[in-house]
This record gives sequence, structure tokens and C-alpha cells, in this order.
Amino acid sequence: QDDKFKKVISHAKEYGYVFQSSEIYDGLSAVYDYAQNGAELKKNIRDYWWKAMVQMNENIVGIDAAIFMHPTTWKASGHVDAFNDPLIDNKDSKKRYRADVLIEDYCAKIETKIDKEVKKAAKRFGDAFIKEEFVSTNGRVLGYQEKINTILSRMAKSLENEDLADVKALIEELGIADPLTGSKNWTDVKQFNLMFGTKLGASADSAMDLYLRPETAQGIFVNFLNVQKTSRLKIPFGIAQTGKAFRNEIVARQFIFRMREFEQMEMQFFIKPGTQKEWYEHWKETRLKWHLSLGMGEDNYRFHDHEKLAHYADAAADIEFKFPFGFKELEGIHSRTDFDLKAHEEYSGKKLQYFDHEDNASYTPYVLETSIGLDRMFLAVFSNSLQDEELENGTSRTVLKLPSVLAPVKAAILPLVKKDGLPDIARKIVDELKWDFNVVYDEKDAVGRRYRRQDANGTPFCITVDHDTLEDNTVTIRHRDTMEQQRVKIDELRSIIKNEVDV
Ligand code: ATP
Repeated sequence: QDDKFKKVISHAKEYGYVFQSSEIYDGLSAVYDYAQNGAELKKNIRDYWWKAMVQMNENIVGIDAAIFMHPTTWKASGHVDAFNDPLIDNKDSKKRYRADVLIEDYCAKIETKIDKEVKKAAKRFGDAFIKEEFVSTNGRVLGYQEKINTILSRMAKSLENEDLADVKALIEELGIADPLTGSKNWTDVKQFNLMFGTKLGASADSAMDLYLRPETAQGIFVNFLNVQKTSRLKIPFGIAQTGKAFRNEIVARQFIFRMREFEQMEMQFFIKPGTQKEWYEHWKETRLKWHLSLGMGEDNYRFHDHEKLAHYADAAADIEFKFPFGFKELEGIHSRTDFDLKAHEEYSGKKLQYFDHEDNASYTPYVLETSIGLDRMFLAVFSNSLQDEELENGTSRTVLKLPSVLAPVKAAILPLVKKDGLPDIARKIVDELKWDFNVVYDEKDAVGRRYRRQDANGTPFCITVDHDTLEDNTVTIRHRDTMEQQRVKIDELRSIIKNEVDV
């Protein structure tokens, strides 16, 4: 699994998807740049989300709020007081860790024991094996499960009660060691705020302390009434937004999975109080469908319902994805009640209420939120698409089977040779197709090598111009995933590509 992840990272660099930020200065930790292909893939994911959210729903509109917000925003939202990670240092290695992550990793190890038991039993029982039945009746598995539950619920309780001494006690009782050095010599657990601070204004005495936003959601809450009044939308309605968010993450070692500067795609859905349960279910289901529509395999997703809830939520679930390092959160669906709007009413002294004509009454709406990290989605798509294939003729190929709708380059146009007028025809095809699709021209190397290059790049189609083209205006179109080749008329290219890359 580690190997697969390393491969993902090096492929992302080699094919111009993701670079370490400021690489010539040895990089900046947990900050990354998107390269020529990465920027396209990221944009296509963003567009795919925006289309599903804003374009396809007449009751959802999109905004683009500023990254800087009035500092009181973060008092009201609870981020100044409660947006903390519990940190613990190892006295010997001087390394710093998130205490909750150390404990969760410990539980994940127990979970692999469960997986092993399941695999063993599946082999033993063959076709008659039913996983759920085995897991709910096998004594050893139940014991492991119970241990995990006890640990996690104790941790959740201690964190909720700010009982950091007990979090440390738990780490010591479990005998958790520094993953790098094995040392068990821990400091106390301390809370550490994740927001980046900066200053607005030039002179020292008039400058105002600001934060870089740690989530995009607050830009939606503070604009709620402006948008509602100018759009005249009736509840239920949603406001969507994509944009950068910043968090001073401590555990930041998983490539673009956890970054200090990242992008979110969030949607706040404003609803009548009391209807949150049904909307929560609705958005859980709707968002999972969106993921499945990309065809990346149903087994790669699962829900994780939260027991430990953030300060603003009355229900929360993650959609987890099977990354190369295991199932991890990809998107959150949160029932945020009226926590945020009420808090902003209190801190700003302005009413943020909705007048419901049907009920003839005003109320502060409840909010259902869907929140997904664009970079994390990028990693999900990219890592899932990267495959090594053994071919029938004994050779192998590396292919990036990106969903066509997301692929940075939709087609590569290749003249078989650099003479006899073939490049001119190929260029002409590029000039026609580029109005609708991102296409490239490539004449370097033998055509087989060019195919391989495009496979590794994730390009769904290669179009080859050869000597027959001069006779009958046909070209070969090669499909990335099946490697099948078809002879088609140049006039048909546009609709063939469109058919596959349009949603
Ligand atoms: P985690 O538990 O992984 O830290 P979170 O629960 O703090 O995430 P939310 O605050 O719910 O995350 O943010 C919503 C989404 O934003 C997450 O599901 C994730 O996809 C993304 N996200 C959060 N933090 C980061 C980060 N540091 N880097 C990249 N994406 C992030």
C-alpha cells in the first residue's frame, strides 16, 4: 500500500499534475502547486461539482466570498475558542503529534486484526461466508470491536470535557509509542488553534488582527440574508461556494490529503427547523450518488456516522473513500442546526431571519451542509485511476484511467509520420476540436510510445492521422481503457468525443 502511494506521488510529479510548492527552496511542508495537468483536473472536478450543485438545482445559487472576513466572524463561529487540535510532544524525539490521531491509529491497527480474521474465515467458509454474520458472532472479532469502541468513546468524552490529562493517560495506558522512534516519553496534551493569523492595515497601532478563513462556510452564513433577498429564493434553498481555506495542520504528511492551504467545495442548505432529519438523509444520499456517478467503484465508498460531534452539529457523517492508505474522510455532511446564524445574530446585532409566507412567521433557518475538499477529491480520483496493467503480449503499461469527464486532455492528435502532409491534417483537426475540448498535438517518437505517454497522462482518446487519411478522410481513434482502435470519419470525431466526455 505504501508503494502504491509512493507511485501516486511520483506519477503526479512526473506527468505534471502536482509539484511540491517552492521546490527550488526545498519545498514548504504540506503546501503544493498544481501543474499544467493538475490545474485542469482540479478545474474539471470543481466544474463537475458546481454543475451538479448549482446548475442542476434551481434552488441552489453560487457565490464567491472573500478569504478575509471581519475577525468577529471567527468569534461567532466558535473557531477562536474551539478550533483546536489536541497536541502531544514526544520528549525524546521532540516530534509533535495529534493526540487523537495517535489513538485513532492505534485503533486502526486493531481493525486490521479484524480484517485478518475476516479474510481467514472467508477462505475457510468459501461461498457460504457472510461477512456481517461472522463479524457479529465471532468472539475474537467482537472483543476487538469492543476494545475499539471503549477507547474511542473514552477519547471522545475526554476531548469534549476538555479533560486533556485523561487523553494523555489513555495514550500511556495503551502504551502508544512515537511511531518514528518507539519512545513512550510524552509531554502533557495541549490544545493548539489551527487558524493562521495576519494583519490588515499598515500602521502598527491601527492594524487589525485577521485570520485566513479556515472554512468557506462562514462566507455563506454572513451573506445568507443578502442572497435570499436578492435571489428571492424560498426555503428550502442552498448557497454553494468553492474557494481556498487555510489550516495550520500539524499532522501533514499525506501529500495533498491534508494541506495547510487547500480548497473546499461547500454548500449550505437552509431549511425549516424540524426538517433537518429528512434533509440530512437526502443530502447524504445525493452526495453519495454524485460520487458514484464517476464510476470509481461502489466498494471504494462508505459512510462513517459521527458519534463525536463538532460544536455546531446535531448529526454528522463522512463519506469515506478508500485511499491508498485506507478508508479516510473525503466529504462531510453536517446538520448544523441554527448554530451559525444565531451566533452571527448575537455577535452582529443584526437579524438573520427568514419570513415564511406559508406559516406567516419569521424564524432562523436550520442548515444542512455538504463539505468536500477539492484537493482530497483530486487525490481520490488520481490514486484510484492510476493502474499498472499486464498486457496480452507480455508487456505492461501504466495507465491513468481518469473518468473522461475529468481528464485534463480529452484527445491527442498524432500524425503517424512527420511528412507527406500528415502533420497539416493533424493540426487542422486540433484547430477544429479545440473549440470544444482541451486537445494536444504530438508528433514526437514512434506512435506506440506516444500512445503510452497519453495513457499515463490520462488522455481518453488518441487520434492518428495516416496515409489512408489522405485518401478517404478517415482517422484511427484509440480508446485509452480498452486500447481498441476504430476507423472513423474526421467529421464524426467531435460527436464521438462529446458522447464520452459530456455529463
Ligand atoms: P479531518 O478530520 O480530515 O481533519 P475535518 O473533519 O476537519 O477533516 P471539515 O472541517 O469537515 O474536515 O472539512 C470538510 C472537508 O474539507 C473535509 O472532508 C476534507 O475533504 C477537506 N479538508 C479539511 N481539512 C483539509 C486539509 N487540511 N487539507 C485538505 N483537505 C481538507
